[in-house]
Formats: sequence, structure tokens, C-alpha cells
Amino acid sequence: MHVFIVTLLLPSVFSQLITHDYCVLGAGPGGLQIAKFLDEAGRDYIVFERSQGPGSFFQHFPRHRKLISINKRFTGSKNKEFNFRHDWNSLLSQDESLRFSQFSQDFFPYADDMVRYLQNYSTALNVLYGRDIKKVRMKSSPDAWNGHYFLLEDQTVQEYMCK
Ligand SMILES: Cc1cc2nc3c(=O)[nH]c(=O)nc-3n(C[C@H](O)[C@H](O)[C@H](O)COP(=O)(O)OP(=O)(O)OC[C@H]3O[C@@H](n4cnc5c(N)ncnc54)[C@H](O)[C@@H]3O)c2cc1C
Repeated sequence: MHVFIVTLLLPSVFSQLITHDYCVLGAGPGGLQIAKFLDEAGRDYIVFERSQGPGSFFQHFPRHRKLISINKRFTGSKNKEFNFRHDWNSLLSQDESLRFSQFSQDFFPYADDMVRYLQNYSTALNVLYGRDIKKVRMKSSPDAWNGHYFLLEDQTVQEYMCK
């Protein structure tokens, strides 16, 4: 009986609170884009992703594996700004090697190329994979700039404090 109770209590007693200024949920295109901006701004951030890699949506969908966001490699213009505005697949980055057109030559690209692109995009970003955030709650604190922190809890009952 005692062993049973101790086993139940152990995860919550010994889980350490990991703290970051910014917490981002999900390493899809949206989460990776905001992570990129936070990274470039030198902020203390972390991305939590329940899958083992980025872009988990595109690992499974669309089922037919062809994207409808066409890959406009040739716009008829040499203007980089113009061409980037017509690029439907790339995330924002100053790094021109992180243009989707470097990852696929197909007009209707394969979803797997998007996954590969997002893997490359996320390489230098702070992403924790295999972390399924199960609970998000607010914790009041006079030390917080707006009066509260967010507490995130993953599937192992590990807690993360987000300022
Ligand atoms: C059928 C279909 C076809 C599409 N085809 C295209 C296309 O061809 N081209 C195109 O550009 N767009 C396409 N889209 C749209 C595209 O899928 C979305 O715009 C894009 O995925 C949104 O990105 P996101 O980062 O907001 O969300 P998502 O890509 O959904 O990413 C969210 C991430 O968060 C993770 N997550 C969620 N909850 C938790 C949690 N509690 N803890 C940890 N991690 C969590 C998920 O695992 C996931 O990786 C299509 C959409 C659909 C439905």
C-alpha cells in the first residue's frame, strides 16, 4: 500500500519547474514561425511539440500527398521581394537557403517535401519533441509583469512555467 502511494506521489513531488519567458505550443508552420522571430530577437523561448518532429500535420495530410499551395519557382520577375510575395510555402526568413523552392521543383509539391523543409527550418530553433501538453493553467503572482504566469503540464506531469 505504501509503495503504491509513494509511486503515485513521486512524479508531482520531484518534477522540477522549468521556466521560460515564452512558451509556444506546437511545431507546425505557425509555431515555428513565431519561434524564429523569438530566436532572432534573442528571447528565452521554448516550443513544445507532441510529435517526434515538426510539421506533423503534413506527415499525414493531405492523404493524396500533393500540396495545393503551388510552388511558384518562376514568376517572370527577378525582384526578390516580388518573388517572395508569390511564394506560398516558405516561412519568413532572411536566409535564402530556407526557401521552399530549394526543397522541391514540383509545381504541386509533395507534402513530404514540406516536412523536410520544416525540419530544416526548425534545426536551430529550441523545440522539445515528444512533449504533449495536457494542461494549461494560470498562476497568480505579484512577480509576474501582468499579475500571472502560465503553468503547462506535459504527459509525464513535468511542469513548465511560462512568463
Ligand atoms: C486537408 C488539408 C489540406 C491542406 N493542404 C495544404 C496545402 O497544400 N498547403 C498549405 O500551405 N496548407 C495546407 N493546409 C493548411 C495547413 O495544414 C495549415 O495552414 C497549417 O498546418 C497550420 O499550421 P499551424 O502551425 O497553425 O498548425 P498545425 O500544422 O496543425 O500544427 C500544430 C502542431 O501543434 C502540435 N500540438 C497540438 N496540440 C499540442 C499539445 N497539446 N501539445 C504539444 N503539441 C501539440 C501538433 O502535433 C502539430 O504539430 C491544408 C489543410 C487541410 C485540413
